[in-house]
Amino acid sequence: MEEAFGIDLGTTNSCVAIVGSDGLPQVIKNLDDEFTTPSVVYYDDGGECYVGTEAKRGMAVDIDRIVAFIKREMSNKDYQRDIDGNEITPVGASALILKKVVDDANEQRGYEGLPPIHKAVITVPAYFGNMECELTKQAGRIAGLEVLDLLNEPTAAALSYGAKGLEGKTFMIYDLGGGTFDVSIMRMQNGVLDTLSTDGDHHLGGVDWDIALLDYMLMISGLDITYDDIKDERESGKMLLAAETCKKNLSKSEKASFKLVYKRKQYVKEVSRSVLEELTSDLMDKTIDIIRHAMKISREPDAKIDEIILVGGSSYMPMVKQRLMKEFSCPIRLDNLEPDRAVAKGAAIHAAKLAGNGKAKVKIGTDLASRSYGVRCYDSEQDKYFVVNVVKRTDDQVYEGAMNFCTVKEDQTSVLVALYENISEADNVDINKCTLVGEERLSWGFPVPKGTTLEAHVSRSSDGTVRFWEECQGKKVYMEIKYKGMYSDAEIEQMRKELEKKRV
Ligand code: AMP
Repeated sequence: MEEAFGIDLGTTNSCVAIVGSDGLPQVIKNLDDEFTTPSVVYYDDGGECYVGTEAKRGMAVDIDRIVAFIKREMSNKDYQRDIDGNEITPVGASALILKKVVDDANEQRGYEGLPPIHKAVITVPAYFGNMECELTKQAGRIAGLEVLDLLNEPTAAALSYGAKGLEGKTFMIYDLGGGTFDVSIMRMQNGVLDTLSTDGDHHLGGVDWDIALLDYMLMISGLDITYDDIKDERESGKMLLAAETCKKNLSKSEKASFKLVYKRKQYVKEVSRSVLEELTSDLMDKTIDIIRHAMKISREPDAKIDEIILVGGSSYMPMVKQRLMKEFSCPIRLDNLEPDRAVAKGAAIHAAKLAGNGKAKVKIGTDLASRSYGVRCYDSEQDKYFVVNVVKRTDDQVYEGAMNFCTVKEDQTSVLVALYENISEADNVDINKCTLVGEERLSWGFPVPKGTTLEAHVSRSSDGTVRFWEECQGKKVYMEIKYKGMYSDAEIEQMRKELEKKRV
């Protein structure tokens, strides 16, 4: 029987799960006996590379040798980092993390006499565009995996709940992780899971709670500094870890003590949960604002939310549940009190199905796209350019939009047409918030009056290909955009071989 892993390649932590012989997804612990592995890479000064728990410990030694939150940089072409001659790339670091979690899982399987697995479904945030998705697949291949599919994280979280009580309901997945916050509004109807809306902030997560708490810890220790003042100093990593531990302890108890070490002096004090809640109420407010926005842009803005499902390690904080109950007065679920493992479990269910060995009852219906596509237009009154979205991210993934524009000058014989990508769901978008995808001149060769019609079409297909064409006076320009990732097959093979030799 074929088997495949479900992998949650997270911004702060990653997790591997598999559907067991009982048909239920189960998380495979890493070799440190933990359910999740920090998505952290550390190079020590001897050139040794560590990934996961060991690497996170390196944070306390020298934060400058740490690679963390790399998922945020996945498609950042300008990302440049070098640690003692080791070039760090987002795809390369993601491959290291994937290799570590898969190697650990296979080693655990080996202890039980089970064969290793090299097939997987990897989860991606709902906001990932086609480029980031392709790069995630490439990272998987470099790690030696056959990537069966990518799956949106909120869809995975919902799958992990299965049909258990979600049928006929509109529900919200509230995913507060270590560095990102995502919200999705979904509906399960006749066993089909549809996404109605997604939104998020990719710079909001547990680490913001840690920093707010650390600033307070520094203050009550009588140190006249903030995290910002010392973030480049060696001690900052250790302090941040102390704040994180204290925060986690406050999820279990009303009070927690902490120890800070600064300039060889120790400071031991205590903090209460209510203080943490007060210090971070603005961060909680931000998540609520994002939810309200997600509801506003939902395909069914008036649909009542029947239930909220909490996902992500930061959902362990009691304040999350309390605040959501106050705002939305509907039942709130935590997956067996394991919100940080729900995504991997959902990925395992999907992986088992694709490997031909699962009995998943839930079908995945509409997944929303993550990018809008629009055409550049000129506003003559304000003398500036803006982008008019023809296909929006809130439309179905497979969608064709058409719109008429017109020439702006007398006797034009051509027009420079340009397609832009953006994350806004608005009709008109500031051009500075958009990325140019392609530009081409449409020429018909004879003068036409100002206001002559230009017909623009944008179509998006299920594999992410975007086609754009614009017509005027029987002439047409056509562009096809297919995202290919950054590396050729030969480069991936080369990187895979190099990584295969490495033990991380
Ligand atoms: P994730 O990316 O979903 O694994 O979430 C990681 C974040 O969850 C980190 O910021 C952790 O500090 C936070 N976290 C994990 N466990 C707890 C806990 N018991 N209480 C508060 N935050 C937690």
